[in-house]
Amino acid sequence: PPDVEALGRATWSFLHATAAYYPARPTTHQRANMLNLIHALPVLYPCTHCAADFGDKIKEHPPDVSSRERLSKWFCERHNEVNERLGKEMFDCAKVDERWKDGPPD
Ligand code: FAD
Repeated sequence: PPDVEALGRATWSFLHATAAYYPARPTTHQRANMLNLIHALPVLYPCTHCAADFGDKIKEHPPDVSSRERLSKWFCERHNEVNERLGKEMFDCAKVDERWKDGPPD
């Protein structure tokens, strides 16, 4: 079975970075592909219980792919739900760009 922790870190890196560089005004094509990417996770993510849980969360909180800012916030909130379940620290979603796009201020 996959290393669920390493897989999770790699996947969150991919998802947060992809959201951080998603367009402020995405085309219909870009929105549709982002929705496909998100909806593929409950089907394909190779941690079955993680995938099932994420599928439930998507139903509760439909993805907002309308802008870079909203999508980044949406992923941050979903990641925080997992953090909470695992007893990890909550992440301040005001800092997603600092973490995943701009780097720390100097
Ligand atoms: P991670 O949680 O992997 O975070 C990596 C880095 O992201 C952190 O160091 C921090 O800089 C940043 N970060 C943290 N929180 C946020 C946030 N809210 N927004 C933006 N950036 C943030 N594991 C399980 O054991 N059970 C599960 O049910 C489960 N479900 C998962 C579902 C999905 C869709 C994914 C992608 C992963 C899931 N995982 C699950 C894995 C889990 O979330 C962690 O990735 C794993 O435990 C490693 O944790 P970590 O402490 O190294 O940091």
